[in-house]
Amino acid sequence: MGSPERPGAEGFRPRSPAVGAGGWTEDRVAEALASAGAEAERLRAAADAARAEAKGDRVLLRGLVEFSNFCSNHCLYCGIRARDAAGGTCPGPGVRRYRMTEDEISAAAREIRSEGSCDTVVLQSGVDAYWTEERIARLVRRVREETGLVVTLSVGTREKRTLAAWREAGAERFLLRFETSDAELFARIHPDETLERRAACLRDLRECGYEVGSGFMFGLPGWSFRSVARDLLFTRELELDMIGCGPFIAAPGTPMADERDGATPDLVCNVVALLRLMNPRANIPAATALDSLEEGLRDRALRCGANVFMPNFTPRAYRDAYNLYPKKTSVDDAGMRSVRERVEKSRTA
Ligand code: SAH
Repeated sequence: MGSPERPGAEGFRPRSPAVGAGGWTEDRVAEALASAGAEAERLRAAADAARAEAKGDRVLLRGLVEFSNFCSNHCLYCGIRARDAAGGTCPGPGVRRYRMTEDEISAAAREIRSEGSCDTVVLQSGVDAYWTEERIARLVRRVREETGLVVTLSVGTREKRTLAAWREAGAERFLLRFETSDAELFARIHPDETLERRAACLRDLRECGYEVGSGFMFGLPGWSFRSVARDLLFTRELELDMIGCGPFIAAPGTPMADERDGATPDLVCNVVALLRLMNPRANIPAATALDSLEEGLRDRALRCGANVFMPNFTPRAYRDAYNLYPKKTSVDDAGMRSVRERVEKSRTA
């Protein structure tokens, strides 16, 4: 299409990701992503102000329960992928596959409830066939009944009728990252799926009445400021309620174990800042993977656009076995006080 950016073209929603409403072009986003020094500081300060204006100073806390690390998918980067001929010793030496029972999951949700700071429980797992439509529907009903918490699911791509059944059972939100907007790259690193299928699932979720969360990984091998700019522009096309993005971290035992972690902390901050400026009203978490790249990076993200933090409530006995990537740190219930203090400090700093 190649239409030029015109003044006064706000509200114009083009098909081509090269030009975005509000004047965000691929060129402009790529340039902003590359900014450093005083320029980067200005970008992040603008994002922090946009966050304050659209979302206020309160940081939303969402309790995470990683309820199964069984997975039948073979995503090339993921530390809990199923083993296959492409290589791999996942989930890693000495790491067991685990599946929490319904009682254990509901106990973790009750703990989130009694801790009192989170209004939401996020139930996440690998793509685990044990957790059928019926079992998850029953789990959602039980957690709703016992805790009254908002239930968010993050269990991979599923059929629309299954998503509808879970919505009916009381799940209100769903997280499913698109991971990359490059269909060819998507297919290469996700042998079990296509970007088209995942985008269709995101549409199904919206049609079923979910609040939809998605996002991408950045710093994948071969990345460029332009490729990340295209991913950022894609978040706008999807009109998401929540956007979670994190750096790729090379995970041992995966076919991508020897790749470099491509993202730097500065790139992370620029990505978060642009997410906020391009999607002012979205909920944007300071993703867990940030602290794997550099300690304290989640706190920095909360000062350049992010407004959501996800403390981990997976029982200790299982937590280390949900090893999507190495050095996956977790702030748990015991650390909640320090999270709140840190977050408050970050808001008034
Ligand atoms: N099975 C669910 C949950 C996936 S795990 C699903 O398919 O949606 C949650 C997220 O962790 C993934 O969406 C991916 O973006 C991220 N992740 C997995 N492996 C990673 C790695 N090596 N580095 C960085 N992020 C990773």
